[in-house]
Amino acid sequence: ESSTNGLAERIRDHARTRPDAIALIFEGRETGYGAFDRNASRVANALIAAGCRPGDRVAYLGKNRDIYFEYWIGAVKAGLVTVPVNWRLAPPEVAYILNDCRPRVILCEPEFLDRVTGIDALILVTDPAGDHPVFTPWRDAQPDADPHRDAGYDGAVLQLYTSGTTGNPKGAMLSNRSLLGVRASVPAEELPEWYRWSAEDVSLIAMPVFHISGSGWGVWTLQHGARGIVVREFDPERVLDLLVAHHITKIMLVPTALRILCDHPAAAETDFSFLKTICYGGSAIPLDLLRQAIAVIGCGFAQMYGMTETAGTIVGLPPEDHDPEGSPRMRGIGIPLPGVRVRIVDAEGRDLPAGEVGEIVVASQANMIGYFDRPEATAETVDAEGWLRTGDAGWMDADGYLYLADRIKDMIITGGENVYPAEVENALYSHPDVADVAVIGVPDPKWGEAVKAIVVPAAGASPDPAALIAWARERIAAYKAPKTVDFRADLPRNPSGKVLRRLLREDYG
Ligand code: ATP
Ligand code: MG
Repeated sequence: ESSTNGLAERIRDHARTRPDAIALIFEGRETGYGAFDRNASRVANALIAAGCRPGDRVAYLGKNRDIYFEYWIGAVKAGLVTVPVNWRLAPPEVAYILNDCRPRVILCEPEFLDRVTGIDALILVTDPAGDHPVFTPWRDAQPDADPHRDAGYDGAVLQLYTSGTTGNPKGAMLSNRSLLGVRASVPAEELPEWYRWSAEDVSLIAMPVFHISGSGWGVWTLQHGARGIVVREFDPERVLDLLVAHHITKIMLVPTALRILCDHPAAAETDFSFLKTICYGGSAIPLDLLRQAIAVIGCGFAQMYGMTETAGTIVGLPPEDHDPEGSPRMRGIGIPLPGVRVRIVDAEGRDLPAGEVGEIVVASQANMIGYFDRPEATAETVDAEGWLRTGDAGWMDADGYLYLADRIKDMIITGGENVYPAEVENALYSHPDVADVAVIGVPDPKWGEAVKAIVVPAAGASPDPAALIAWARERIAAYKAPKTVDFRADLPRNPSGKVLRRLLREDYG
């Protein structure tokens, strides 16, 4: 018997000790830990029977559902690497990822079958409603004994593609250690309260499983023997109903989803008293949204900062620093989790003192193995001692709290001065005529790069560029203020809602 102590084994422990405890609920269907573990073993045997060899990739092209987690843990038991693919991407982008990871098998929901034609892989149809569940009977014909081919604690179990905000998505290979490591490396009682789980917790798995906020959150739930309520696709009304119906205690949401939830009229009448913590993160949260969420929902809030390459959260802002009356820490991303080491370094990798902006680099048990098939990108990102460059610029205060400036790739150098677009965008957001804004650097003969703002005007407004520039100059240093302002009806975003400044830059190349 293997003693990987990885994901599959943690879940098997719950299956042994509490087989009837509910692991997942999805659209009214409940799966206990015992059944989950047996189903996962059947999946493992089915994938082996399909010709999968240890180390092969198994892609999943579908929306959130309970069975995804059985597929994933089943693949782990067979020594395979699951690649959940972002179904929101355009067909050529899906093809890019499938060609990159070269899966042996694609588990595909019927509505996405058109995306996988021409891909050299075994396509298995999997149906969420169970009307024509092609994969299920095939799986069910298999024995429910674990084949014990787990890749080991440091072997790859998940290959997640980055969001593609700064370039093409890259496949970050994550191991059992990546997914369990931060928690496993310190005693539970040393973890901050908001980050601790128990088997009594009921969690909402509402973020897509092709992001770490979905797959990672789901596996935290299962690792602790807690109960996970799986949401097919984020929908505010449904989420509010489920919250009350299942007495949900823990939720992970990206800021855009949190905004939609708070703005929903039913939110004001919802009883949130069972909810202990809402964890939010993945992109910067506007302060007004955070204040609104605290007022409307009133539970504990914790910010999570992390990335695909770190298997999610490495830094968190605890609930006690969420004082809407004016904790300056609410503008930051918080403190490193126990066992996670963070440094702020200059371009040469030298440590910078508190208060100075540099690149955030991180050493943690959770760091990825590397990017799949990209040794150069891996070498540029992770050094020999395991320090991983986040690509984010930020600073640390004297108390060890971290604050983000912006992506390093988006930094503008104008007249020899560094400008972080987020700071300029924040200054312009506060103008009533501005609905949305992105700031980029454009080539300029005098300044090298000049700061340009691309503004989506508020409904009915037609703001004057000179007035917006003056507004910015009252709030930030003159060299940071835009030199020019353009107007557009909307901004290009990736499916995660992050603005693609690289596409805007191309327009002014
Ligand atoms: P790519 O790496 O392909 O350019 P991406 O970096 O957007 O895409 P992800 O790994 O999904 O892909 O996102 C991680 C990034 O999201 C971080 O590097 C950071 O810039 C941003 N981010 C994550 N959490 C937060 C947070 N709490 N506040 C602000 N930004 C965050
Ligand atoms: Mg990134």
